[in-house]
Amino acid sequence: MIDFSFSPAQQGLREQAKAFTEEWVAPNAARHDRTGEFPKEICREAFRRGFMNTSVPKEYGGRGLAVLDHCLVTEEICTGCSGIGTAIDGNGLSQAPVILAGTPEQKARFLAPMTEELMFSAYAVTEPEAGSDVARVKTTAVKVGSDYVLNGVKWWITNGSVASWYFVLARVEDRQTGFIVPADSAGVVRGPKEINLGQHASNTVRVTFEDVKVPEAFRLGAEGDGFKIAMETFNHTRPGIAAGANGITKAALNIALSYAKRRRTFDKKLISNQGISFKLAEMMTKLDAARFLAYKAAWLIDNGTDNAREASEAKWFASDVAMEAAIACAQILGGYGYTNEMPAEKLVRDAKIYQIYEGASEIQKMIVVAKLMRTKVVE
Ligand SMILES: Cc1cc2nc3c(=O)[nH]c(=O)nc-3n(C[C@H](O)[C@H](O)[C@H](O)COP(=O)(O)OP(=O)(O)OC[C@H]3O[C@@H](n4cnc5c(N)ncnc54)[C@H](O)[C@@H]3O)c2cc1C
Repeated sequence: MIDFSFSPAQQGLREQAKAFTEEWVAPNAARHDRTGEFPKEICREAFRRGFMNTSVPKEYGGRGLAVLDHCLVTEEICTGCSGIGTAIDGNGLSQAPVILAGTPEQKARFLAPMTEELMFSAYAVTEPEAGSDVARVKTTAVKVGSDYVLNGVKWWITNGSVASWYFVLARVEDRQTGFIVPADSAGVVRGPKEINLGQHASNTVRVTFEDVKVPEAFRLGAEGDGFKIAMETFNHTRPGIAAGANGITKAALNIALSYAKRRRTFDKKLISNQGISFKLAEMMTKLDAARFLAYKAAWLIDNGTDNAREASEAKWFASDVAMEAAIACAQILGGYGYTNEMPAEKLVRDAKIYQIYEGASEIQKMIVVAKLMRTKVVE
């Protein structure tokens, strides 16, 4: 059996997210892009409407939404501004390791308060010498009595300067281990906001851990479980990243479509030229394909099935489609595509990060190939 329709509840969720985007996200997108100010008030409204912390289980006060539901929300919000969308969604990435591997006490202590008031958390894995190659993480955790003492540098951490706690991947001797580290622990030092190409509303910073004491009770799983926890997280979050990229594609398509229908050159509308209309047809087709990949990857994990290949396929494909669509949109708008009077240039800048964060496109393809290596014949 196969069914491509959304349930009434999913349709309702999508409409609510669209209304929030139209009221709060889209009207403020250009301002946050210009100023780089963190969109705290927009996050507060997203929190109030239940669009943050969507995956926190109901028993800890959350909505316990499925990954597919989360994709529907994220696509809408990122249609308005993916930088604001990333700020809203950052909690999901850092909460996933706790949802997957946390004890009931850890969940009650770190997840439940986030459903009571607006709070942020961050996923701190990347280091200067460990990005794609997570196995090279150098941050150390040394056991001293009933504590661990952490030392190391994490960089490019989304929501890093607003987070109340971090999921940190560190090395206990040669065992990669996950920790929850409260941001107010002595020795946690946050750097200034990075100036990025796009997604200016999103907060990216360096976080340094200098002799930070972390109680054993804040270790996630056993020593040595960290790499697996950090990677399994992505099976839950990559469909949402693909959905965010799809939001950019949708925005690019709508802007280009509307412009091509009204702009006249050589006595006819732009859209009457096949060179333009085919670009629009390709954007629409690829958006459909990227959505199906994202929804399928989400559906698989929601149904307890391994989705590592599908999540990677969805992530790289949707990211490439968003990048292409943003460039095509800028081209269709001509000069307007290059100036900041129209949002096309912002989409070009914002789209690029999808090909890099949460595993660059090359890494996603390596995951797909690793699965193919274990496949005799593709059915
Ligand atoms: C804005 C922003 C936000 C981020 N947010 C977070 C966050 O919240 N938490 C966090 O932990 N990290 C975060 N990151 C880090 C991000 O996940 C990494 O930048 C990304 O995983 C790539 O790692 P790298 O930059 O070290 O590139 P590298 O690993 O050095 O790779 C460089 C390039 O080479 C390619 N490459 C690497 N190895 C191979 C190979 N074997 N074959 C072919 N190609 C290869 C890569 O795909 C990439 O294109 C963020 C980064 C940015 C820019």
